[in-house]
Amino acid sequence: MIAQFLSEMRQFLPDDRIYTDELRTLGWGTDASFYRQIPKVVIRSDGEEEISRIVKTCRKFKLPYTFRAAGTSLSGQSCTDSVLIVAGKHWEKYEIGPGQETIRLQPGIVGAKVNEILKPYGRVFPPDPASIGSAMVGGIVINNASGMNCGVHANSDRMLVSARIILTDGTILDTGSEESREAFRKSHPEFLRKIETLRDRVRADEKLASRIRTKYTIKNVTGLNLRPLVAYDDPFDIIAHSMVGSEGTLAFLSEVTMRTLHDYPFKASAMVYFLTMKESCEAVVAMKKLKAGEEDLQMSAEQLMVKSAEMLDYKSLSAVDDPVYLQYKQDVDAGRIAGVEPGDYRGLTAILTETKGTTHEQLLEKIEKIKACLGQFRLYIPAEFTEDPKVYGKYWAIRSGIFPSVGGTRPVGTSCLIEDVAFPIESLPEATVKLQKLIAEHGYSDACIYGHAFEGNYHFILNQSFESEQEVKRYEEMMRDVARLVVEGYDGSLKAEHGTGRNMAPFVKYEWGEEAYEAMKELKAIFDPDGLLNQGVIFNDDPDCFIKCLKPLPVLDYDFSRVPDGGHYLMEPELSTAQETIEQVKRANKCIECGFCEVNCMSCGLTLSSRMRIAVQREIRHLEQTGENPERAATLRKQYKYYGDQTCATDGLCSTSCPMKINTGELTHLIRQMDMLNSPMGYRVGEFAANHMAGIKQGLRVVLDVAHLGHVTLGSTLMTQVCRTMNKMGMPLWTTAMPKKKRQPQRSDLTQFIIEKSLPPAPSSRGVDSAENSLPYEGKTEGASKVVYFPSCINQTMGQSKGGNKKHDLVDEVIQLLAKAGYETIFPEGMERMCCGQIWESKGMLDIADRKSAELEAALWKASEQGRYPVLCAQSPCLHRMRKVMHKMKLYEPAEFIMKYLVPRLDFHPIDRHVALHITCSTRQMGVADDLIALARLCSNNVFLPEGVGCCGFAGDRGFTFPELNKYGLRKLRPQIEANHIEVGYSNSRTCEIGLETNTGIPYMSIVYLVNECTTRKK
Ligand SMILES: Cc1cc2nc3c(=O)[nH]c(=O)nc-3n(C[C@H](O)[C@H](O)[C@H](O)COP(=O)(O)OP(=O)(O)OC[C@H]3O[C@@H](n4cnc5c(N)ncnc54)[C@H](O)[C@@H]3O)c2cc1C
Ligand code: SF4
Ligand code: SF4
Repeated sequence: MIAQFLSEMRQFLPDDRIYTDELRTLGWGTDASFYRQIPKVVIRSDGEEEISRIVKTCRKFKLPYTFRAAGTSLSGQSCTDSVLIVAGKHWEKYEIGPGQETIRLQPGIVGAKVNEILKPYGRVFPPDPASIGSAMVGGIVINNASGMNCGVHANSDRMLVSARIILTDGTILDTGSEESREAFRKSHPEFLRKIETLRDRVRADEKLASRIRTKYTIKNVTGLNLRPLVAYDDPFDIIAHSMVGSEGTLAFLSEVTMRTLHDYPFKASAMVYFLTMKESCEAVVAMKKLKAGEEDLQMSAEQLMVKSAEMLDYKSLSAVDDPVYLQYKQDVDAGRIAGVEPGDYRGLTAILTETKGTTHEQLLEKIEKIKACLGQFRLYIPAEFTEDPKVYGKYWAIRSGIFPSVGGTRPVGTSCLIEDVAFPIESLPEATVKLQKLIAEHGYSDACIYGHAFEGNYHFILNQSFESEQEVKRYEEMMRDVARLVVEGYDGSLKAEHGTGRNMAPFVKYEWGEEAYEAMKELKAIFDPDGLLNQGVIFNDDPDCFIKCLKPLPVLDYDFSRVPDGGHYLMEPELSTAQETIEQVKRANKCIECGFCEVNCMSCGLTLSSRMRIAVQREIRHLEQTGENPERAATLRKQYKYYGDQTCATDGLCSTSCPMKINTGELTHLIRQMDMLNSPMGYRVGEFAANHMAGIKQGLRVVLDVAHLGHVTLGSTLMTQVCRTMNKMGMPLWTTAMPKKKRQPQRSDLTQFIIEKSLPPAPSSRGVDSAENSLPYEGKTEGASKVVYFPSCINQTMGQSKGGNKKHDLVDEVIQLLAKAGYETIFPEGMERMCCGQIWESKGMLDIADRKSAELEAALWKASEQGRYPVLCAQSPCLHRMRKVMHKMKLYEPAEFIMKYLVPRLDFHPIDRHVALHITCSTRQMGVADDLIALARLCSNNVFLPEGVGCCGFAGDRGFTFPELNKYGLRKLRPQIEANHIEVGYSNSRTCEIGLETNTGIPYMSIVYLVNECTTRKK
């Protein structure tokens, strides 16, 4: 049946968007939950017509299917063992409505991006899950996800205006369009009649209707959303709002129109410490009663003075090493806290609270009222509100850091589970204490409770092993007890924001009761009569489904003893690349498969993402450790070569959005190193190259010269065709952006390149090349400042591209700029033989990498007179590597160096030319992106920063051998360059610039050219 289904799919979908292989079904099938389901087919969808045909075909073959956005769901609602339809990257369009009061969104836009879009208008996208940096609109709305601020009053259900959906029969309905509604009335009268009948039946049952109204006064996402049946009369509104919280069990959401809210201009936060958990909850209940003025309703859809109150129990505070908690411990042990025995720190509980105002006076007024309210309670230290974003930013960082801190310290091989319950706010003080006791009784001594106390919504984190039956049983019993406490004790919500999924499916009827559950089933049957949509989610007849299909989390236990360590060559051997790589790989064991890295992973969508790489490596290790299925292990290993290894750019940007700071690029380095150990030939080549750098650079210059000659002789078109054919045969790809060889300076000895006494006059024109800026410089400048300049082997070898239209190669341009600012340039001795080691690191020859770094380090140490002078490197990825292994000298990237040392010595004459800036991964990671942007803005009045371009994917030399990586990384760039009439781009990595030029058609060059063009010596 799958074969027939696939054959129909292939009639209208390209092969590269249908995956059935072991590797990609596993990778794409992995979500953030602790359930393992491997889809048989993964389809990357691209448009409504496609979805309509896909769902009709699924229906024809009775194949269950599941939709997926970012796959950050925690309860098992975005994984399946059947057909997985991904609607992410191709679904990113939006349209802002009149007065910015609404916004129309496709489901694949990341939530944080929506806020970026709305920021200039002082408005926000109200739903605010902690995962907003990765979760997509489709997943946020369909899960009814919420966070610290939106509560119930501004969740997706309340903010939704209309929805455009695709039903299981392929019909597209836009509830916001009268035309579409009219067509639907004609085509689906029975559907509408059933919705109306269900609405009327629920409303006629007063007890049920009232219970529904009550239950949604607190956060609740258990089961389907029943609120629309009692809140809206119009069946189209009921249809649209039923989609919220439906977890992909009703229909596909292809577009949603949401209300936006104002962002308050004035905000203040306080971290308030209570002596007992119960008192902290009593204070929350009291704060919730503080009413604000009418305009708050207009601004934020609620009339409360306090905007959020997050609870952090003592375990949470301990997990993040909260300084006040540490002080409290000392006070307790010294007997300074009345009534508390030494060693008992359980009482301390913090409430992080926030208030906002439209004016400063209003904010201060609110703060005073809140403080007065808090005055009724025993506080450990007085409550102080701060309006300083830096200070309150730290408070919120503490709150956000709980989950990664707890997850990061869990024992290897255990899952980090986040549970998510809610109690009616009045019962909070009692219920919270009982919940804490219950969890401890089940032996979860390291569990912590934290969360949105203002909504009665708590998360508790458990480090859970599923290795033994006993452990699974322990989890099961604890969950059943929690269910009893929440449902029977307080009629609360078993899932407040993370969705029912498979995790709470067996408890939906238990929480809601027979009548409500029947209403949910009826709603499901109206939308999905064949029961194909997201089977097993929300509705599941297996009472034990929540403890089945659990994800194995094997240890990534590579044989690290085989990794040769070259660290001893370095001045500081503890900076060994091998050791650092091994540490990073061990850290990958902390991966919770949350998927937060995917937004920054450039290969996600082309091949695998960082999360998928870890998931596949885990599966391979699992199969190897258990000996379960050697064929599958072998297949995965084979497929991983291209999808996992060769197309990883090793840029490490994944670590920037990973809560555990895992750098999957390092895992790739290790895997390459392991492969290298099995390939002595590859290692010998690496050794040879390391020992013959000068000759290799010369050889490369010859190659570049020949290629340039070919380019000039054959012309761009013919040369490109020839080279594409050669690339298909395994040769590195040549493109028109390929540099000429670096022109060698006339002087034979570069070790002490000394600048002219009378510096060249400033260029008067802003033309591309100023005649006054010509070489060479001779003589010595008395009293000039000195800088050691290592141009990197790339810039010693590669010159400008044919289209670059620059007279000087970068090395000369840098010298010229330095000279203009009165700097004397010192080159390290033996520069021709030197390399930072980056190329060996990226190939997995970590020991050779360190050896090369050490040679360079010694030369720089000498040239800088033991660190007396700063060291400049014009190639940012090389500098990034140097900074990792050389800590004794001040090492600078050009923009950073210019901003710090040259700006005071130069006059800037900004130009109007539209210029684009490319921020490389290494620039981002070194934290110098702001310098680069600021510098470019000093030079040009029209600096363009493209959107949605992260790593360019050139990845050192990978752009030559796997150009598809580079093309994919820059797929969003060319249209923006063209639309904004950009003539030239600037960056700080020659290799990235080659890829940028190839994929945009405009020249890209170092920022140094722009600075040199736009500056004169300070008068
Ligand atoms: C560390 C961490 C923290 C989190 N914090 C929060 C939090 O604070 N609050 C919170 O509420 N959640 C939180 N979550 C859970 C999760 O991130 C959110 O529920 C999020 O909204 C899911 O979005 P997604 O894009 O990943 O959707 P997915 O997981 O891909 O999908 C979610 C559901 O929507 C369905 N779906 C996806 N796209 C469509 C579509 N176009 N049409 C129909 N159905 C579709 C899927 O089938 C699935 O059932 C957290 C998760 C993690 C890992
Ligand atoms: S690498 Fe980090 S961000 Fe990526 S899935 Fe693992 S824990 Fe999450
Ligand atoms: S290093 Fe780059 S390509 Fe590789 S997993 Fe990380 S972000 Fe993705």
